[in-house]
Amino acid sequence: MSDNCLFCKIIKGDIPADILHEDDEILAFRDIAPQAPVHFLVIPKKHISGPSDVAAEDEQLIGRLMRVGSEIAKKEGIDHFRVVFNNGEQAGQTVFHIHMHILGGRAMDWPPG
Ligand code: 5GP
Repeated sequence: MSDNCLFCKIIKGDIPADILHEDDEILAFRDIAPQAPVHFLVIPKKHISGPSDVAAEDEQLIGRLMRVGSEIAKKEGIDHFRVVFNNGEQAGQTVFHIHMHILGGRAMDWPPG
């Protein structure tokens, strides 16, 4: 846990969120500013700042994000969805606790802006 991290505060329950899934390692919740009809974030409870900071010991955990996120997407009724990890400010990362965006429910453009 990191004291100044927004997502660690959501994990602790200090900041409310619309939670879709919680287990001992992972939390998933709806994005506060959805960019698609379905837009949620899947995060490890372990504080990892971003994709560049994933260590060898985290490989299984990060793999689980994908599996849990896909299961939630199915429950949310989206077969087609986009998965996004932003890494660094220039790439659009604003919260420095690794998070997987899942967006769906509309057609997506490529490349992203
Ligand atoms: P990033 O830009 O770092 O890839 O994504 C951060 C995401 O967190 C953004 O999509 C933003 O809307 C979302 N977000 C920021 N603050 C909050 C919050 O307090 N609650 C929730 N549920 N989402 C948040």
